[in-house]
Amino acid sequence: MERTLLYEGKAKKVYQVNDRTREIILSYKNDATAFNGEKKSVFPGKGRLNNEISSLIFTKLREKGIKSHFIKQLNKTEQLVYQTEIIPLEVVVRNVAAGSITKRLGMKERTPFNPPIVELFYKNDDLKDPLINDEHAILLTNISLNELKEIKEKALEINETLSEIFQRIGIKLVDFKVEFGRLADGWIVLADEISPDTCRLWDVETMEKLDKDVFRQGTGDLIEVYEEILNRLEEQK
Ligand code: UDP
Repeated sequence: MERTLLYEGKAKKVYQVNDRTREIILSYKNDATAFNGEKKSVFPGKGRLNNEISSLIFTKLREKGIKSHFIKQLNKTEQLVYQTEIIPLEVVVRNVAAGSITKRLGMKERTPFNPPIVELFYKNDDLKDPLINDEHAILLTNISLNELKEIKEKALEINETLSEIFQRIGIKLVDFKVEFGRLADGWIVLADEISPDTCRLWDVETMEKLDKDVFRQGTGDLIEVYEEILNRLEEQK
């Protein structure tokens, strides 16, 4: 397939393949970054693991009626998706306190949230992705108030389905980040990726962290824990 590089991000490259159908290829890289790109490393095999994990999860979400940009996995490190205009919001859903909320609000790690908390961050590297409210989101993006409401509801629906998927394999979904994009026809769908790069995943029995925190905190072998996630998901398929 003939392709042209459209964009290169921290974790993926994006290639245009077909102007007419607006399909693009996401190519997962082996790079890992944390703390707004201040900490960087390369992990051979990470691109494949995240591509496999994200493809599996988007397929399961599709089975549950959650529409996304995902079309199909193409090979070990690449997937075919519909091109969307990414809405510059990071939508975070939290079931348990961890990460930035513990520092920002002085909450103890492991504090459960019932109901879950939805937070919005403005996707902007120069500003270091600040936390914003609904009014800011409307001003900073081209979505309507109603679309924002739908995005937050969708994020909570994704949380329910994802929590169930992980619960079945002995993992607590602590929190995660999703992004949404607008298709050519105007509809907003789930986009980007869902992987241990974008979720906090704790083993229910041991509380072991099986996600990017092992890299952020330097406490474990990233490839080993991502492999553990993929293996458990594949056993459940
Ligand atoms: N997250 C992400 N990309 C970001 C920031 C956060 O995927 O740029 C994910 C992160 O992996 C975690 C959730 O969103 O699962 C909540 O992250 P948090 O706000 O606690 O920020 P962090 O502690 O990662 O800086």
